[in-house]
Amino acid sequence: MNELGGARAEPMSRHTSLHIGGPADYFVRVRSEDDLVGAVRVAREAELPMFILGGGTNLLVADAGIRGVVFANTWSDVSVHGTVLDAASGTPLASVAAAAARNGIVGLEWMATVPGTVGGAVHGNAGAFGSDTASALIDARLLDLNGDIWNASLDDLAYSYRTSALQGTPTMVVRARFHGDPGDRASAVRRIKEIANERIAKQPLAQPNTGSIFRNPPGDHAGRLIEAAGLKGTRIGDAMVSEKHANFIVNSGTASAADVRALIRRCQAEVKARFGVDLVPEVELVGEWDD
Ligand SMILES: Cc1cc2nc3c(=O)[nH]c(=O)nc-3n(C[C@H](O)[C@H](O)[C@H](O)COP(=O)(O)OP(=O)(O)OC[C@H]3O[C@@H](n4cnc5c(N)ncnc54)[C@H](O)[C@@H]3O)c2cc1C
Repeated sequence: MNELGGARAEPMSRHTSLHIGGPADYFVRVRSEDDLVGAVRVAREAELPMFILGGGTNLLVADAGIRGVVFANTWSDVSVHGTVLDAASGTPLASVAAAAARNGIVGLEWMATVPGTVGGAVHGNAGAFGSDTASALIDARLLDLNGDIWNASLDDLAYSYRTSALQGTPTMVVRARFHGDPGDRASAVRRIKEIANERIAKQPLAQPNTGSIFRNPPGDHAGRLIEAAGLKGTRIGDAMVSEKHANFIVNSGTASAADVRALIRRCQAEVKARFGVDLVPEVELVGEWDD
């Protein structure tokens, strides 16, 4: 395993936006396609489970941590060709939005305010302000655990609301291409400022969180249901349903993953009992859970 390099027993709390998560057995930074392919080969030969980490902004990592190896994707580069943007999977989504705006490309402004990487967005069909990854993606270069690499079309990824064919599979995103529309720089920058201000006004961005905890059920909003169930401000340990936006659970101090999961279950149970609606988590639970 020396060949992998990286850190041992790396606390995942350092790498998640909730500041929660136990140790990863091995933690390896990847900064290029070659790094990623090489690390996958070494881990496969050592028969280690693998997990690819983007920005850690949609994760609840178990207190017991993650067995095997975590690849921390810090490979960031984006190039612009006409109205097409070609980005490495570790590129912050906000950098794609910034490159688009700089080049007078419009339609990708929403990406500026969704934290995380291109890989995480392609995996989970991230979206905001009426748009999403599925509407912007041209294709994605993928890697499987055998080291095979291929290009997936939009159809191959079978997107719907916050879901894709990649979820539940070990397939990794290597790069992705997005398209915008011709426009002008000033209006793209103005739009980015508008939506950033809207977020600051509505979301508890000053406290560690993981964005929306639940997907919105068809025709409704998870936050509305949680608020109507009287759960705003409810705490389990230091995990708290935000007073500012009920579909956010914040870490108000030293919350554990178990606290957050218990609070997720409490919200699900109360909303189900009162309104008969099953809330489905948007946050991904990963790592070693007891049950
Ligand atoms: C303040 C805040 C606001 C948010 N607002 C939004 C929003 O408006 N809309 C929205 O959709 N989301 C939102 N989120 C959630 C989050 O930003 C998105 O889900 C984002 O796409 C996750 O990307 P990431 O790189 O952080 O992925 P991670 O959290 O690191 O990982 C999430 C999943 O993606 C997988 N993954 C990561 N990289 C790759 C890769 N290269 N190949 C294959 N799989 C990969 C991981 O293995 C994991 O399964 C918000 C989060 C925060 C903290």
